[in-house]
Amino acid sequence: MTLYFTHNPNQNIKNINKHAVLDLIRFTPGGIARAGIAKQIGLSRAAVSTIVNDLIETGIIRNTEQRTKTSGRPRTLLEIDPDAGYIAGIDMGATHMRVVLTDFSAKAIAEKEISIDIAKGPDFCIAQTNELLENLLLENDLSLPKLAAIGVGVPGPIDSEAGMVIAPPIMPGWDRFPIRQTLEKLWGRPVSVNNDAELGALGEWVYGAGRGMRDLAYIKVGSGIGAGLLIDGRIYRGSTGSAGEIGHLTMDNDGPLCTCGNRGCLEAFSGGHAIAKRALEAVQAGKRTQLSQMKPDDLTAKDVAAAARRGDLVAQQVMAEAGEHLGVAMAGLVNIFNPDIIVVGGGVAQIGDLFLEPIRRTVTQRSLPAAADSVRITTAVLGRRSSSLGAVVQALSLAVHDIAEGKQVSILQSMPDGVA
Ligand SMILES: [Zn+2]
Repeated sequence: MTLYFTHNPNQNIKNINKHAVLDLIRFTPGGIARAGIAKQIGLSRAAVSTIVNDLIETGIIRNTEQRTKTSGRPRTLLEIDPDAGYIAGIDMGATHMRVVLTDFSAKAIAEKEISIDIAKGPDFCIAQTNELLENLLLENDLSLPKLAAIGVGVPGPIDSEAGMVIAPPIMPGWDRFPIRQTLEKLWGRPVSVNNDAELGALGEWVYGAGRGMRDLAYIKVGSGIGAGLLIDGRIYRGSTGSAGEIGHLTMDNDGPLCTCGNRGCLEAFSGGHAIAKRALEAVQAGKRTQLSQMKPDDLTAKDVAAAARRGDLVAQQVMAEAGEHLGVAMAGLVNIFNPDIIVVGGGVAQIGDLFLEPIRRTVTQRSLPAAADSVRITTAVLGRRSSSLGAVVQALSLAVHDIAEGKQVSILQSMPDGVA
């Protein structure tokens, strides 16, 4: 298992075993002991002990005991020390932004979500991000220098090495804007920038519905629709970082116009904006629905989902149609990619089975039985936090590997002896 999620050009090749040990400790479901590490990497117990002791000294990892159900000696497992530092994960969507502050075990200390409009461009949105982060830090007696790293997700195809989006369909003004460079300069901390759906896949794989799976697809259904693909335990980005742009799969050549300029994309049928538009059309056609009491301009997918949950038949019909279209696209994904699990996340998916059932039904009808029978389709365990916690996973990768390389010290190490 080699799991270098974060491109880190400064990572010293000499320390490759150290990084491999760290990744095993972070990503083995149920934890791992020294003997397990030796077996996985093919090193001697002595070599592993040297590396582990070295890592314990830097303050990133610690021993933890796990008692097995049968009586016997407790196993000594290794884990990332939660107190080694702080991380921020930021999920910038098209219409919402969530910031989460965590310790090194990704346990949330504080989080906040606000409305944004990604189309207002980088200057405006980065100022908003900065304000939200600084306020959250202040409220929790923290400051930027205390953050070991910051992870950011954005809703567009990413060149992770350059830290910028390339020709993003729903991010006007952001094309090739140096996001990572700008944020690192602003905050003075290491920053990783990744695609939001990709981060959703990572978040659910490490902390959510996909733990221990090898092949996972995460579909983020918000205003836009994107997929993050984890193949054989690794994020699949494609040749230019735009893999998983399932929202722009053509469902109907002559279908409704999409934000990307094409017609009939999945997003134009099942995305949040499309759901609101369909509901509005039903209202205007005089159908009996609670939604007719709302101001047409204010109607959002969230309102449609809420009405559907209250039993409004028109709203339920709109959600079901959106789910069916998504199911058709997902059946294609299942045929091509044969995943263990598909996790449906994002704001729209929070409605649950009213959306999931038509998806499951359509995938079963339309994909090959060999693949359809084995795939589990579920909502995100982390709810609206999948992508922000995925951003934390990436930021932690930067932080722990920097500490292992001696480029940063952990908070524990920087404190006087015995104080932590
Ligand atoms: Zn499109």
